[in-house]
Amino acid sequence: MITISSEAIEEIFSKKIIPAAVCSSGETVIFETRDCYNNGVVDERFPLGDGEKEVENPITGPLFIQDAEIGDILKVEILDIRLRSWGVMRSSIDFGFFAGSYQEKKARIFQIEQGKIHFDEQVILELEPMIGVIGTAPQEKEIPTTTPDTHGGNMDCRKIIKGSTLYLSVNVTGALLSIGDLHGLMGDGEVFICGLEVGGEVEVRVTVVKDQWLPTPFLSTKGEVMTIQSAATLEEAGRMATKLMRRFLQQAGGYDDLQAGMLLSLVGQLAVCQVVNPLMTMRMEIPAEILYKRGYQLP
Ligand code: CA
Ligand code: CA
Repeated sequence: MITISSEAIEEIFSKKIIPAAVCSSGETVIFETRDCYNNGVVDERFPLGDGEKEVENPITGPLFIQDAEIGDILKVEILDIRLRSWGVMRSSIDFGFFAGSYQEKKARIFQIEQGKIHFDEQVILELEPMIGVIGTAPQEKEIPTTTPDTHGGNMDCRKIIKGSTLYLSVNVTGALLSIGDLHGLMGDGEVFICGLEVGGEVEVRVTVVKDQWLPTPFLSTKGEVMTIQSAATLEEAGRMATKLMRRFLQQAGGYDDLQAGMLLSLVGQLAVCQVVNPLMTMRMEIPAEILYKRGYQLP
């Protein structure tokens, strides 16, 4: 099996980056990832760590997938997310919902034991490991790993978990998939600008899908499918995610305009992914059953 080492890190999604590995469609690949502080914050007494070697939110990759051509879709099955034995959180001075209300950066290290952390003596939290950053290279521009967009990127969607399948657009030959920024746990919104930040490894199966349209980034998880969209405001991101899902209901389920709108109002769940990145991210979730009952099957 191909393993991409966490030495192969980047700060941008770009077609100019030389692939760290090459694989065929249908292959399984392991991405070893660093935490968002570049593994630099290891001691609560030194919240600035080693100066972080100035790599922000590193991603591992990119992976070149043979056969992936512009216009295809890359199906990424998240087979496993394995975390190291500790996570870290740090307050932010300038970003997040509390910007300006914390005077200094402080860090906490949490030991992970049997899939849980002890937040304090009373509060024990069960982890739900997820991927913060996952995306393909954009067609033209270079996008920092701090930013989500149509290529995926820093979506911080807590539903990108083991067992889920993410569909991404192929914007350049080979797709160039990269992954990073694992969270042991994160609430919708990520209001304090970090989850439980953890390094680890992600095992994925990547498959090239030809001649199909999906409203990418598109996620299938636990009986739900969802569009994930990012924009300058939450309202705009929510509108984009919902409109794309309406189009998908029409195309995949054969629902007309009126039916699709009503269904979205009845069973569509509009939810916040994150409010702290350069663009805000929302998702529109619907039960996959609605499509399956109309004979649709996901690629
Ligand atoms: Ca993130
Ligand atoms: Ca993070």
